[in-house]
Amino acid sequence: MGALLVQLADFRTRCDARVHKWLGRPRRPSGARRRTGHEHEQLFRTLIEHSPDFIARYNRRCEVVYANPAMRQIPGGGGFRLALAAEVGTPAGQLDYEDCIRVTLRATSARESEFQYDGPDGDVRWAAVRFVPEPGEGGRSETVLAVGRDITDIVHYREKVRQLAFFDPLTDLPNRAWLKDRLPAALAYADAGRRQIGLLVLDLDSFKEVNDVLGHACGDQLLRAVSMRLLQGKRGDDAVVRLGGDEFAILAPVHDDDLDLAIIASRILMALAEPVVIDGSEVFMTASIGISRYPRDGSDAATLLRYADSAMYAAKRIGGNQFCFHDPATTRAAVERMELGTALHGAAHAGELVLLYQPIVDLGGAGLVGAEALLRWNHPVRGLLTPDIFIKVAEDNGTIVEIGDWVLAAACEAVVRWNAGRAVPMRISVNVSGRQFVMNDLARSVQAALAASGCAPQWLTLEITESLLLENDQNVGRTLDELNEMGVAIAIDGFGTGYSAISYLGHFPISTLKIDRSFVRDIDARGKNLALVKAMISMAESLGLDVVAEGVETQQQADVLASLACHRAQGYLFGRPMPEVQFVPYAQSGKVL
Ligand code: C2E
Ligand code: MG
Repeated sequence: MGALLVQLADFRTRCDARVHKWLGRPRRPSGARRRTGHEHEQLFRTLIEHSPDFIARYNRRCEVVYANPAMRQIPGGGGFRLALAAEVGTPAGQLDYEDCIRVTLRATSARESEFQYDGPDGDVRWAAVRFVPEPGEGGRSETVLAVGRDITDIVHYREKVRQLAFFDPLTDLPNRAWLKDRLPAALAYADAGRRQIGLLVLDLDSFKEVNDVLGHACGDQLLRAVSMRLLQGKRGDDAVVRLGGDEFAILAPVHDDDLDLAIIASRILMALAEPVVIDGSEVFMTASIGISRYPRDGSDAATLLRYADSAMYAAKRIGGNQFCFHDPATTRAAVERMELGTALHGAAHAGELVLLYQPIVDLGGAGLVGAEALLRWNHPVRGLLTPDIFIKVAEDNGTIVEIGDWVLAAACEAVVRWNAGRAVPMRISVNVSGRQFVMNDLARSVQAALAASGCAPQWLTLEITESLLLENDQNVGRTLDELNEMGVAIAIDGFGTGYSAISYLGHFPISTLKIDRSFVRDIDARGKNLALVKAMISMAESLGLDVVAEGVETQQQADVLASLACHRAQGYLFGRPMPEVQFVPYAQSGKVL
């Protein structure tokens, strides 16, 4: 807008020269008394100079060639800030004032937009401005006439009407009409970001009794308290809505997991569990929550609301104070995962974690070279659980850090025991989750495990996933460098699955590729996988990396791998993951040699 500022010094001269042209040629009055040209000019000049409307004209360079006093009073000399195409407060459709002038210069018809501007007291005011293109002799627009009017009162009024239509006066939360109005846009937004949206419908379990016993005023207080708790507990993007009565809704975008929604629902239930103090007495309140998900449960707002509603009634039927998904199987799975998550806290401390060791062998004849430590959780009720059941839960609730530290410590201690008195030391491979890099100082944890056990760093390999390296997190790169400097080796687990960006291999201190077992599976069938494994091995060789083939189950697979100069392998052919009491005699027997 700087270029648009009125140059007050030469304004009057320019204005005087142009005002006649600006107003157009006045028609001769048909009345008895004929006015002179000068009188006409005076008349129009007075009209314009005293008009409360903002009037200005701009040339093709968007410079002001005339601005009336009302326009000049705007701080900055005629600058409006933003044009809003539609509703006040809607960022979509924002257009710069100068852009409007430019667009009008190219147009043949007038356009209108609303703008914010600073009032004389520094308050934010609104103006509706009409831009009229003024064609010159050649037909193209030479100037733009802008005529604006202050509409601050109208905007405030409009806002008030919107507030009344879309917001609940008791809690100030958006209401059902707002939800219906906004839900389609929220769903479209989720589509664009490939996200899910959870719709949680919440109903208080015994609100009627509160109303009946304590009266409506207390009921209102309680509803306000509930809305405050919902607002306090919500995440940044969530929207809390009062649907009516004692029914609320939460619109929650989530990435991919039902667990996120289950966690949101149980947090709400916990937040409501605290008693509300009304008129000095404590009122206890519980709620039932129904959850539907877009796009899985329904593709439109009405269906989602209906499903969330019926799931909420299902939660009530089974006693209230709980949540239910639209799909009962999801509810069971989510509850199970949450219970697992809770039980994982302290599992390491309670001695419920166990490491199994799977042999890694040298196909060139050197026999057993080490083992991969594979975690199991000896759940007090469900028995021995494999990592696919609990690692994701541990990552989600953060217990992966404490579990990962336990695994590191236990694996280092084990390899120290095995290598005592052994001429050629064995190596131990430990799987680490990406969350251990993000939520924890992994290098420090590794250092602590090495120091506590007396394990040489050269005996330890950390297995990470390709996806971790593709996250482009500086912290990951730094940690890998630190580990490398310490002498700890890094292996890429499940190499070749899902990602094609292998340029990362040159950026990080990687020493080993573990070829995923999906490539090894039919390597003996001489299909495409054979060519891929060949390519991976030759690439690793030229980069100076070791290769371990995973999931070797048959002698034929082992033979093919050996013929491709793949030196190391792991799989059921050589040994399943086994407890240490079994692994030690296995290692001593030299069975694999
Ligand atoms: P992974 O690192 O790829 O581990 C190899 C998995 O393949 C193991 O499953 C192992 O039992 C299985 N396996 C080994 N040889 C064969 C074979 O010849 N045929 C077949 N079909 N399978 C074979 P497991 O123990 O269930 O572990 C699954 C995954 O859990 C591991 O995949 C690893 O990503 C993760 N995991 C295991 N322990 C830990 C841990 O301590 N921390 C973390 N963060 N993740 C772990
Ligand atoms: Mg592994």
